[in-house]
Amino acid sequence: MCARCGIGTDGPRPTWTCSVENGVRQYFCDRCSRENLRAIEGRLDSAWW
Ligand SMILES: [Zn+2]
Repeated sequence: MCARCGIGTDGPRPTWTCSVENGVRQYFCDRCSRENLRAIEGRLDSAWW
C-alpha cells in the first residue's frame, strides 16, 4: 500500500514511486508522489512531511 495515504493495492504499481528510507523500501501512489516530489527528490524521510 501507499506509505503515506495508505491506499490499498494488489501490489506495487509500476507508476508508483519507490523511496528507500532507512533501508526500508516504501511505495507512494501517483498522487502522493506528485504532492511530495520535492521531499522525495530531497531524500527526506517521510517523517519530515
Ligand atoms: Zn498515497
